[in-house]
Amino acid sequence: MTDNPVDQVETIILGSGPAGLTAAIYAARNRCCPLLIQGAQPGGQLTTTTVIDNYPGFPEGIDGGKLMEEMERQARRFGARVVAGEVTRVDLQTHPFQIWVEEERYRCLTLIVATGASPRMLGLPNERDLYGRGVSVCATCDGFFYKDRVVLVVGGGDTALEEAAFLGRMARKVTVVHRRDKFRAIPELQRRAQKNPRIDFRMNTVVESIRGEKQSGLQGVRLREITSGRVEEVDCDGLFVAIGHEPNTDLFRGQLDMDTDGFLLTREGTKTSRPGVFAAGDVQDRHFRQAITAAGSGCMAAMQAEQFLEEVSSRN
Ligand code: FAD
Ligand code: NAP
Repeated sequence: MTDNPVDQVETIILGSGPAGLTAAIYAARNRCCPLLIQGAQPGGQLTTTTVIDNYPGFPEGIDGGKLMEEMERQARRFGARVVAGEVTRVDLQTHPFQIWVEEERYRCLTLIVATGASPRMLGLPNERDLYGRGVSVCATCDGFFYKDRVVLVVGGGDTALEEAAFLGRMARKVTVVHRRDKFRAIPELQRRAQKNPRIDFRMNTVVESIRGEKQSGLQGVRLREITSGRVEEVDCDGLFVAIGHEPNTDLFRGQLDMDTDGFLLTREGTKTSRPGVFAAGDVQDRHFRQAITAAGSGCMAAMQAEQFLEEVSSRN
């Protein structure tokens, strides 16, 4: 184990999505130099999409990646230190808290957890093998490879219909496969997808299995219509899985209280079950999961962390 040169800091923030970076902006303006550990996906989920139309302050919309670069620039301007790396272990039983990035150890008086969420997968046997070989979770990242091809999008939420609309600009045919007879997506996204003649819909339908091998890539899927039980083999070049996200909380199991799906439990704003540890963004939010709500709770976490630091210093 190596002690990091910065060794002990007042505040460490885990995650560089809207929650983590907003927390960094506020924490850096309150006190010197919070340390933000970026994780494997610098900028978080918004870097996997194109235009963000509903983030206030950008009447024409803003590219997701660009928005996150600007947030990082703003955090750095106030002195936040942004380090690359993924936290592999935490010890929250002792204070100062200990955080490891591989073998490197950091210590901090307050911790803000903003580790967000990762794409949920269907859980079918060869899904992981075919990941990047026809199976994808990001149309913005991989859509380019499916020009004039036939693709399926699984899911019925905002992401699925946005992915379908995006793919509908380049693919020959896009089929949205959804397990229910109603979409969860907002009406505007439903309308946009329904207007596109290249997009069709298979409702009450699930992907039962995936056909293909590592070398040759994806060949097709078997669909099952739930109401009739009818099974059909469908050939396709791409399968975009857009069925939501799981909170990134494995690191905290046994150390912070979470609900049955792994979302961190918070009270009075962003306080977790451990005094001095705060949680912001999708990692603790199973309802709203928007960039603006993540940013808002990042602000709250930094303000509550500041209050905690003041209480600690007034005790000493
Ligand atoms: P995330 O953005 O998930 O960021 C989590 C961060 O934590 C990442 O930087 C990751 O690297 C880091 N991390 C994870 N594990 C570790 C670890 N072990 N150590 C250190 N760091 C770690 N919302 C909108 O408001 N408008 C939209 O138009 C919109 N479009 C979307 C399109 C898509 C395709 C998707 C998937 C989501 C979209 N959302 C949109 C939702 C929005 O992206 C999320 O609500 C928001 O990004 C959540 O922010 P967050 O900071 O909580 O987490
Ligand atoms: P979501 O809202 O949780 O929707 C997931 C969809 O996948 C649901 O339709 C669900 O079906 C389906 N599903 C879940 N598990 C499944 C499984 N195992 N097999 C088949 N289908 C499954 O997730 P999301 O669409 O990624 O959206 C997440 C958050 O980001 C939301 O808050 C959303 O508003 C936000 N977002 C916003 C925008 C935007 O504002 N433009 C864009 C993208 C995302 P059921 O409906 O039957 O549950």
